[in-house]
Amino acid sequence: MSYVPYGRQNITRDDIDAVVSVLESDFLTQGPVGPRFENALAGYAKARFAKITNSATSALHISCLALGVGPGHLVWTTAVSFVASANCALYCGADVDFVDIDAKTHNISLEALHSKLIEARKTNSRLPTVVIVVHLAGLPVEMAKVAALADEFGFQVIEDASHAIGSMYEGSPIGSCEYSDITVFSFHPVKIVTTGEGGAILTNSLAIARKVELLRSHGITRDLDEMTQTPHGPWYYEQQMLGFNFRMTDIQAALGLSQLQKIDNFIGQRMEIAERYNSLLDDAGIGTPSTIFAPGNRSAWHLYVIRVNEQNLSGSRNQIFERLRANGIGVNLHYIPIYRQPYYAKLGFDSARFPESEAYYREAISLPIYPRLSVEDQTRVVELLKSQSGHQTIF
Ligand SMILES: *Cc1c(COP(=O)(O)O)cnc(C)c1O
Repeated sequence: MSYVPYGRQNITRDDIDAVVSVLESDFLTQGPVGPRFENALAGYAKARFAKITNSATSALHISCLALGVGPGHLVWTTAVSFVASANCALYCGADVDFVDIDAKTHNISLEALHSKLIEARKTNSRLPTVVIVVHLAGLPVEMAKVAALADEFGFQVIEDASHAIGSMYEGSPIGSCEYSDITVFSFHPVKIVTTGEGGAILTNSLAIARKVELLRSHGITRDLDEMTQTPHGPWYYEQQMLGFNFRMTDIQAALGLSQLQKIDNFIGQRMEIAERYNSLLDDAGIGTPSTIFAPGNRSAWHLYVIRVNEQNLSGSRNQIFERLRANGIGVNLHYIPIYRQPYYAKLGFDSARFPESEAYYREAISLPIYPRLSVEDQTRVVELLKSQSGHQTIF
């Protein structure tokens, strides 16, 4: 029996040909394909600018820097995400705090965010410079409400859309930055489209686009209009700030550009899989994610997360998880609440502050979902989920 992972890339001949053609060209990096991928991304997400990077982690890092995050500043994010959503603030010397999740959407709770902001104002505590929201599993956060809070309390907004290229909110693609300063995509192989490793920063602000362009390439400019000194000669370039090498190669950009042509097909397949799970699990006493969205909204279905509470007939969450793993199904848990990581626990977070994140961590399982997951494999996952622990199904 073959191993079924929770997620995987979908690479076809056209992707391979696109990569090979870069390998046979003059430029492996900083050639013409990177900017072409950027234009395609900006067009797809309906943002003015897209700037590609070597990962979403580095994209989040320089996004925080571009928004002025530094020592003494505070960044808030959701308690249930990949650690990169919080680490980016620490890279800048800022402090991080977490907001509990919503019991239904598993995204940042906007009620909890609102109360925490009111509390901070009342007690004269620091307010966040930036709030990073995460469209978990691809499900869009209610960005209009986030933007209203941002106006009221004076913070900036980054959307960590690592799961959500192709998701829609109120009829606009996630990445259009209608309600945020910056949106970040990830192109890791388990995500919706891949470049191997890679990320992108989307923004409608020319100033932010310029700044991240500098930060991703050593803080160096070759643009004559931006020079602070008179060029010494034709070789001249200027380092104007302390930047990094966070560039994406043209080899990767070619893969991304080729993958992006097929994104709507990828998401269509993911939607079908989610709907099939929902109908197969209808009577299983398992918490399934809704496939019905507010008008104009859609999920890219990066993950399909079920909730199994203690009373489930086919076993506890841990029993079900282990049964599936023992049968070659690579179920997973997205994510261990970040404050529970030893590194963060040392910073003094108290899990009692995050009851919904704790409940999620007790009950969640990510089931396999990716284009070309076969109906047979999906049926096998569901049968294993429903079978009584330690017994064979007898019909
Ligand atoms: C994958 C992921 C990241 C990091 O992406 P990389 O491209 O691997 O650096 C950040 N945030 C979230 C929510 C992710 O899922």
